[in-house]
Amino acid sequence: NMAVFKPENVEDFYEIREVLGSGHFGQVRRVCERTSGTCWAAKFMKLRKNACSRLGLERSSVEREVEILQAVQHPNIVTLKDVFESRAEVVLILELVNGGELFDFIAEKENLLESEAIEFMKQILAGLGFMHSKNIAHFDLKPENIMLSDKVSAHPTVKLIDFGLAYFFNQGEEYRSTSGTPQYIAPEVINCEPLSTAADMWSIGVITYILLSGLSPFQGETKEETLGNIIAMQYDFDERYFSTTSSMAKDFIEKLLVKNPNDRMTTEDCLRHPWIKPITRKQVANRNRSSINMKTFKKFNARRKWKMSFTMVSLCNRLVNLKLCKVNPEEDPLQRQCESDVEDTESKPASLLRRRLSSSS
Ligand code: ATP
Repeated sequence: NMAVFKPENVEDFYEIREVLGSGHFGQVRRVCERTSGTCWAAKFMKLRKNACSRLGLERSSVEREVEILQAVQHPNIVTLKDVFESRAEVVLILELVNGGELFDFIAEKENLLESEAIEFMKQILAGLGFMHSKNIAHFDLKPENIMLSDKVSAHPTVKLIDFGLAYFFNQGEEYRSTSGTPQYIAPEVINCEPLSTAADMWSIGVITYILLSGLSPFQGETKEETLGNIIAMQYDFDERYFSTTSSMAKDFIEKLLVKNPNDRMTTEDCLRHPWIKPITRKQVANRNRSSINMKTFKKFNARRKWKMSFTMVSLCNRLVNLKLCKVNPEEDPLQRQCESDVEDTESKPASLLRRRLSSSS
């Protein structure tokens, strides 16, 4: 059931409006359907012109993203409406996710109880659990890819986005990949071991840790240091940052940041964990007394946003320099090997520079 990639011109059906964000190989823009006036998000994905080109995506990886989006129709996952294709690019017409990133929504609050944060966690786990039940892993879970449906409701719906690294496991198949973002990747990714949906659960552990404390558990000064900390399982709960955190929350995180993927909680285990689903009255009370460390969380988020814009500026500068020197095409055998964290700017292939540049316009 391959999706039909329409050969027509998108602009015949949609009016193209402002840039909403930028991805590895193109922009995401708001578009409005000409017939109905309904707005959507269009993800423009540049296609690779020939096998030796470093720019653009392989058509097969676009097909993979489309097939996965079609398979994961769930209230907590962005939906795909349509696909257009021209010689140079593929355009995905996606549900417009209007509420910005979950972390930005939380950072604007004065305080947040653990029980309120859990309402968001439940939705993330529901969307992820649905994917996992279909043998699909996301492999790029991070704050940038957890968005909210709208800015108007008091309780917006979580929407998971960006299925560019997602993978469907065929029965009994082995899959290895080293893609992802250092801060959030599981040890088995770094070690280039066979992967499973459990790699996403590690990322959930990291995201929960940050959400509660405003600290990133494995973050080092450099990318190498971060990866080293992950391999060494070097993390702890510093009482200065976790003083308002419940012991159940720490237990939840400890059962996700487990080296052996088989021993990590699954989404189902998570939804049954007392932090998410308290049973005794003591557990309920414990949870209601606990809150997230808003002071450091706000700091983390501000720094994260600043780093994102810094990455863009430094990459623009690098692009200017790169134009002056020759690039060896054999250097970059894996097309989406890289990620979008600032520590990694030095190792980004030229193919990534385009989108960072375009996103600053
Ligand atoms: P990445 O470099 O993060 O892997 P990507 O190339 O896979 O990116 P996406 O993450 O899918 O691209 O999209 C890039 C950005 O565009 C997102 O971070 C988000 O800000 C915005 N965006 C993506 N999809 C939508 C949507 N459906 N509605 C609104 N904004 C969106």
